[in-house]
Amino acid sequence: MGRPTLAPARRPPWALEEALFIDRCTRCDRCIEACPTRILVRMDGGFPGVDFSRGECTFCADCVSSCEPQALLRRDADAAPWAIVATIGEACLAVRGVECRVCGESCPEAAIRFRLQLGGVAQPVLDASGCTGCGACIGPCPTRAIAMRSDNNIPTEREA
Ligand code: SF4
Ligand code: SF4
Ligand code: SF4
Repeated sequence: MGRPTLAPARRPPWALEEALFIDRCTRCDRCIEACPTRILVRMDGGFPGVDFSRGECTFCADCVSSCEPQALLRRDADAAPWAIVATIGEACLAVRGVECRVCGESCPEAAIRFRLQLGGVAQPVLDASGCTGCGACIGPCPTRAIAMRSDNNIPTEREA
């Protein structure tokens, strides 16, 4: 298995594959205006993307319903919103020996548990199979130690 790829611009959930998305998206901003948690922002070229430092995705799909050209497209209720999972980096306080469990308390899926260490502070362990990529853990982390990585094991919309 290769190294995880850190995504440059994270498109909104249920976005088509990048080339198709760019082709279809008219940069109308409707998804940005529709998002109740305000995590969608204009990124390079005016195309929308997700900024998890602003909040989390609730998977309400309001952005999808507001997208007329169907650059965001949810084919059925089971379609995965995206192929990303959170990953905890070296800036983590607990990794550096300082007690912190903020991300575990923020995760609605209980995908981050803390493993007790003999003589040290408990270490976060992220269960990628339980992570939905909602981003709820990212904003509250005091050292911005959490990022999203692509997970190629999650099938998503590829073509229209
Ligand atoms: S699914 Fe809902 S919360 Fe998530 S980006 Fe779209 S509008 Fe925002
Ligand atoms: S919130 Fe950030 S610093 Fe705290 S344990 Fe989680 S990853 Fe580490
Ligand atoms: S992205 Fe969401 S589901 Fe995944 S670990 Fe963070 S809070 Fe939990």
